[in-house]
Amino acid sequence: MINRRQFLQSAGWALAASPVVSILGCTQKLAAEYVIIGSGPAGIALADTLAQAGKQVLVLEGGTRQTDTALQSMHDVEAGQWGLPYNLGWATQRVLGGTTNLWQSHSPRPLEEELASQTLRGFGEDWPLTLNTLTPWLASSERWLHVRPAQPQLNPSLPKNPYIDTSTALSELLSGKGYTHLEAGAYGMVSGEGADALRLLDDGEIDRVAALNTVAVRPGTIARRIRMTGERAVGVECADLKGNAFFVEAGTVIVCGGGIQTPRLLWNSGVGNHSDWLGAGFMEHPGMQIYGHRAAPLLPPGVPETHIHVRDMLYDPAHNGLGGTLLHVGLKPGAPNREYTMVEVLFEQAPDRRNRILPGNKKDALGDPIPRIDYRLTELDLATIQRGQQLQHTLAERIGSVDNTSALRTGSHHLLGATRMAANPANGVVDTDLRVWGTDNLYVASSSTFPTGLTVPPTLIVVALAQRLAQHLAMLKAHP
Ligand SMILES: Cc1cc2nc3c(=O)[nH]c(=O)nc-3n(C[C@H](O)[C@H](O)[C@H](O)COP(=O)(O)OP(=O)(O)OC[C@H]3O[C@@H](n4cnc5c(N)ncnc54)[C@H](O)[C@@H]3O)c2cc1C
Repeated sequence: MINRRQFLQSAGWALAASPVVSILGCTQKLAAEYVIIGSGPAGIALADTLAQAGKQVLVLEGGTRQTDTALQSMHDVEAGQWGLPYNLGWATQRVLGGTTNLWQSHSPRPLEEELASQTLRGFGEDWPLTLNTLTPWLASSERWLHVRPAQPQLNPSLPKNPYIDTSTALSELLSGKGYTHLEAGAYGMVSGEGADALRLLDDGEIDRVAALNTVAVRPGTIARRIRMTGERAVGVECADLKGNAFFVEAGTVIVCGGGIQTPRLLWNSGVGNHSDWLGAGFMEHPGMQIYGHRAAPLLPPGVPETHIHVRDMLYDPAHNGLGGTLLHVGLKPGAPNREYTMVEVLFEQAPDRRNRILPGNKKDALGDPIPRIDYRLTELDLATIQRGQQLQHTLAERIGSVDNTSALRTGSHHLLGATRMAANPANGVVDTDLRVWGTDNLYVASSSTFPTGLTVPPTLIVVALAQRLAQHLAMLKAHP
């Protein structure tokens, strides 16, 4: 943890003569119809879609164009009673474009078996949204994120995912061994052709959106508190990188700070905990890999790699009551007569109130409480993991050898559930329009709104929800 002085110095600004810089005085005033906090995929997709509807948008981003240790320290977290599974705070980047600079663009679509998990599998709870509601937004999210779907007919405007054709022999092998729910080619990033997934900063997408007539993006702007007047968010109390405080007036505020900073900002603003769910139900994707090889290659000559998902666990009544798995098989050619195999698994989690993001005892460089994270695998998670590992092992044996099994990792940088969506105010933090319950005009777009963990990585759905929210906001009456 660095202190305030180090923060200001390393961010490139000398301290004033006094070591204490006043951050309380209001030195500037800004205003916008829609104020978005965070310029990751959620914030920028939202700004882009709102701008297309002619809305005036200001995006506040705590990071700048460069990653910087001092700025990143604003994402420090405190270990709760069970320790931290990994450096969770640094799973979101404080930089323009957010975490798209790190992400791997593995973002397949979810299935109805995941969203209606209680009805169809006796697991967790149903999302208050159906897959049908999300489907048009998943298609536009794929286009926006450059993620190629497993079923090209669902999105014909996108280039076809080349892994679909190259995985035929693997699909045949697996279907011959009794696997029935296979998604050929289901992987977003096509590494053989270079990473074509969206990097908001490097690809110039931030600059494109910031140049739109009605959009402004303000880097180096740290949102510290949302100011409420009764049930109305009236604006955001901010600090710049010199520590100067200022207020941004807002017609509507949308928090897009990622899965940890979003609940933290709501905590620090004293809003969103009407049901005692704020921060609670935090989930991740535990996962592990098995590496092996085949002596009889399945890949056609010259093909650099292929990928396929095996989703049988979601359909098998024998697993009712347990979380699902996303089993992901990858093949890569090696030396002659040697093909490398990888079977990765992501395990689905259900929310547990004990897994929670709370205000910590330590403070950041501006004096605001950093998040404290209580997170551990529950009894249900351990049962899911045990069953999923058996399936993973059997699958690895069926496609080749089992040479090396990684340790179980308790997370995959997928920060889920801490401002959960619910159809009823007693069960969550935001409603199905992503409005914080009990407020008029405060919204959240983030994987923190997911009520259950699903088996798929979150970003495709995060952007789909952000675009859907933008359309909803654009259709609401203008603010008085
Ligand atoms: C190594 C790695 C690999 C990943 N791979 C995948 C993958 O293959 N597939 C997948 O689906 N997902 C993946 N993810 C997750 C993915 O990156 C996130 O789901 C996605 O970036 C979330 O988007 P977001 O806009 O909600 O948050 P972010 O991208 O984290 O953006 C949040 C932004 O808000 C800003 N911010 C936060 N608090 C404040 C504040 N108080 N004031 C001002 N600004 C603030 C931050 O600086 C940041 O720019 C990966 C993540 C990591 C770290």
